[in-house]
Amino acid sequence: MSAVAVPTMEPKPQSLQASDTLGPVVVIGSGPVGMRFVQELLQRYPHARVTLFGDEPYAPYNRVQLSSVLAGDVGRDAINYDLPDTADYPNFAFISQTIAAIDTEAQTVIDQSGQQYAYAKLILATGSRPFLPNIPGIHQHGVYTFRNLRDTDALYARLSRAKHIVVVGGGLLGIEAARALCRFNTRITLIHQGSRLMNRQLDDEAANRLADKLRAGGIDIVLNSGVRVVHGMNRVEGVTTRDGDRIDCDTVLFCTGIACNMEMARDAGIKTARGIVVDEQLQTSVPDVYAIGECSEFRQQVYGFAAPGLDQAAVAAEVLSGGSAQYLGSSASSRLKVVNEPVFSSGEVTDFARHGRQREIVFRQDSTYRKLVVHNGRLIGLLGIGDWPELPRIQELYQQQRPLLPWQLWWFRLRGRLWWNDAAGDARTWPAKAVVCQCNGVEQGVLVEAIAGGCDSLASLSDTTRAGSACGSCKPLLNQLLGNEAPPDKDKAWATVLISSIAALIVALAVITIPGLMVPDSVQEPVPLGGIWNDKFWKQVTGFSLLGLSAVGLLMSLRKRLGLERLGEFAYWRALHIVLGLFCVGLLIAHTGFHLGSNLNRYLMIDFLLVIGLGAFAGIAVAASHRMSPAAGLKLRKTLSKVHLLVSWPLPMLLAMHILSVYYF
Ligand SMILES: Cc1cc2nc3c(=O)[nH]c(=O)nc-3n(C[C@H](O)[C@H](O)[C@H](O)COP(=O)(O)OP(=O)(O)OC[C@H]3O[C@@H](n4cnc5c(N)ncnc54)[C@H](O)[C@@H]3O)c2cc1C
Repeated sequence: MSAVAVPTMEPKPQSLQASDTLGPVVVIGSGPVGMRFVQELLQRYPHARVTLFGDEPYAPYNRVQLSSVLAGDVGRDAINYDLPDTADYPNFAFISQTIAAIDTEAQTVIDQSGQQYAYAKLILATGSRPFLPNIPGIHQHGVYTFRNLRDTDALYARLSRAKHIVVVGGGLLGIEAARALCRFNTRITLIHQGSRLMNRQLDDEAANRLADKLRAGGIDIVLNSGVRVVHGMNRVEGVTTRDGDRIDCDTVLFCTGIACNMEMARDAGIKTARGIVVDEQLQTSVPDVYAIGECSEFRQQVYGFAAPGLDQAAVAAEVLSGGSAQYLGSSASSRLKVVNEPVFSSGEVTDFARHGRQREIVFRQDSTYRKLVVHNGRLIGLLGIGDWPELPRIQELYQQQRPLLPWQLWWFRLRGRLWWNDAAGDARTWPAKAVVCQCNGVEQGVLVEAIAGGCDSLASLSDTTRAGSACGSCKPLLNQLLGNEAPPDKDKAWATVLISSIAALIVALAVITIPGLMVPDSVQEPVPLGGIWNDKFWKQVTGFSLLGLSAVGLLMSLRKRLGLERLGEFAYWRALHIVLGLFCVGLLIAHTGFHLGSNLNRYLMIDFLLVIGLGAFAGIAVAASHRMSPAAGLKLRKTLSKVHLLVSWPLPMLLAMHILSVYYF
């Protein structure tokens, strides 16, 4: 069974048996949400009488991963859910049948063959289907939708023959489909009616960046348009766009939205609008009938994403168990999966009603674009294109509505980060309450506990906690927690860093241990290096060179702090910084002739040697960190660098006093 499967459930003690009090529970729909509800309920009541109906000719599977299957990134079997084992859950049954009608008076459901099943509680998790616009020619061979495994198989098969596919709809599904189909020299044209892609989730700049990426990947994009007619005599030959242009193609894929599967509920007298209307308990207008997932409508909102449905499943299971849980709504987040470029959006990021005291903070750097929308010091939206290591941590701030500090916003504008150190992207350093798996709401502390309890692989961690079992985008974080990360690459200039650091350390030690060189008594007397440490002219040359190099070294570290990273790679700058340190100790010897001096000069000397010595240790840690565990390497480097920086602070003041005393006296 799959690594991303729904968790195997641990049977609960017999005392929790409640099959009699609960009565038979019927669940219609074995999509992600129906499956989640069953798990949640059986976890509470392992002996509950639960019958799950699914009308697809496959074992239940994770629909969210279909684009990854189409793209060839994930195997077809890897998305199957594990059904609850009847050895542990003896009253559970899965029936592969379509339910045709509901009799709410008699409290029964009727399948297509006329068989009736009684229920005490009925859960509707019937999801939705693709919405097809009513345009001429749409029902001919070569027109596809993308909702289930059958569609995925059909599109996969079509891909080997199709020469030109037109994808209609530039939302998340259309973009993922276009990207997944853009293989085997098949030409792809993506037509979108909005003025920008994913117009509800992206702002203009993010959408333009995404469109550029997709175009560079070989996808033609037509915006502000749509398909008016599909041409062909039973087989697709082309489309006419809203602008009147004809595009020749052999395949058209419609990704133009969804329609809730609610007709059966409506026919049974249950209140429907855009979906099946539910209250905070997920109850419909009819007692004992609940609706969850994409078929439901809560406060005039139908969610087209998995996470809200999974939340609803947990609440409904709690309500059926006699709990007082309430569903109060979910924030919509979108993340593109099969597009090489990470794209993420959550909350209000575009075309929103402006509130007073609302601010947008944007960070741009090369292919990275990040935006935070802040209201009253709290995040109300976030948007990102490109890698964003801090994203899970920021999502947690957003979801928990934690306040942001003013310096964090300043820092974000400058560096694109909210936290000072890089470790915010490392799930091991997060607080226990931080949510790692956003789809399932699994907290860091729960994962750490599960790992301590024996989960040592991604599959077992996912099975135990459910983290990573929906969209799978948190898997890198789970691997981080498991310590499964690939060992860090060697620092690019590691050899230079290592040699210069060791050399600087040896020379610094030599300065401490070798006694001060003699001052020549006469010009006849031979002294090493001609006694330049005692010659006024050379003393000035070495002193000012030392001052200059120290200032350059300091500026280099400021360069990192100020984020001027466009000027070459950081690894090379670091190597240069260390080589500079080595030059500095050489100059120090030339300036002092191994004399440690007295009073102020001695403090200056000690501080200088500490700066060099600790810098050298930090350099050695950098060069050797690929041999340590990522966490240990990071910790050591950071600690040494911090101390190195700390001891550098008195240096400018001591130098200034030294120069003043030399010239004054
Ligand atoms: C290609 C693709 C990619 C997606 N990517 C993401 C993503 O990255 N992130 C995200 O959050 N969401 C994504 N989604 C949306 C996500 O899949 C849905 O939000 C989620 O599947 C909804 O779950 P559900 O169980 O409510 O409904 P569904 O998944 O639609 O499941 C409902 C099930 O009920 C069955 N059913 C309906 N009527 C009956 C009946 N009368 N009798 C028996 N069975 C019935 C249906 O056949 C279906 O199997 C994606 C969707 C697709 C198609």
